[in-house]
Amino acid sequence: MNSQPEISVVVPLKDEAEGLKAFVATLQSQVSTAADTYECIFVDDGSQDETWRMLKELARSELRFKLLRLSRNFGKDAALKAGLDAATGRAIIVIDADFQDPPHLINEMVERWRNGAEVVTPVRRNRKRDSWCKRTSSKWFYKAFNRIADSEIPENAGDFRLFDRKILDALAACPEKNRFHKGLFNWVGYRNEYIEFDRPERAAGSSRWSYWRLWNYALDGIVGFSSAPLKISSYLGLVIAFGAFVYGLYLVVYTLLFGRDVPGYASIMVVLLFLGGLNLLAMGIIGQYLAQIFQEVKARPSYFVAEHVNVTEKSAQA
Ligand code: UDP
Ligand code: MG
Repeated sequence: MNSQPEISVVVPLKDEAEGLKAFVATLQSQVSTAADTYECIFVDDGSQDETWRMLKELARSELRFKLLRLSRNFGKDAALKAGLDAATGRAIIVIDADFQDPPHLINEMVERWRNGAEVVTPVRRNRKRDSWCKRTSSKWFYKAFNRIADSEIPENAGDFRLFDRKILDALAACPEKNRFHKGLFNWVGYRNEYIEFDRPERAAGSSRWSYWRLWNYALDGIVGFSSAPLKISSYLGLVIAFGAFVYGLYLVVYTLLFGRDVPGYASIMVVLLFLGGLNLLAMGIIGQYLAQIFQEVKARPSYFVAEHVNVTEKSAQA
């Protein structure tokens, strides 16, 4: 297969028309200096704006631009999966279309890969530009995730990465439908190198991630990579059961020695409500796992490709 490009760039896009032309031009100039041969795979994740039409325009005279249009918005991780499934390069770069993953880092990333790195991960030097709330919540998420999950994810890294084809094959061997790429990239292992950078503001448009969406994303990530929450509820149950046993023993002895006391309404209510709450919490945690198992068992495809340009039929299949 001598038509295999050196580098495949995968870009997920949702409503990015505003800054698209500038981004594609910068991306192409950076990639063409960094790599001998390359392809850029743009995945339109159900955009409602002009993104697809503009992409088609750009790809008309540029066969190295490969386009996939998903049948609806499937979310960034599914769009990434679609792009990765179509990637044929010896190394793959995943990058956002809003200039927040600076294309000028590509050169150094490719150099590092040529010098033996299997994964190159740019990490943000600081998050001063983020709001206090976002900074704190993301810090806590990484703390919690790294403490309880099967593998660590580097704090302050996004999905922006370069990785060798070996990693792509490893990812392809993970059949899960709930694809938390942030976690998967590191879970597969391999030699990882880091580059520090300052993450700029979005060049155009606004982030698609509301706090509610981020919260659910974080929850799915933790459930997908750790069974610790299940253990927490069983240990908590064990501790409380032990406490209840000791307290019960005390009550029996007390009643035998001093007779029946006036029943304590307050203490009963407190115990009842506390245990009721705990029960619901434990059920909720189990429910999260059940929901994810349900998703996996249904095994629906992560995405459907509605239209593709410059891509062979086979590599456009989910
Ligand atoms: N994106 C996508 N599907 C979505 C949401 C986002 O393909 O449902 C793309 C988006 O076009 C961008 C990248 O994923 O290229 C990152 O999205 P965004 O900038 O909104 O995320 P943030 O930078 O705030 O984490
Ligand atoms: Mg962004």
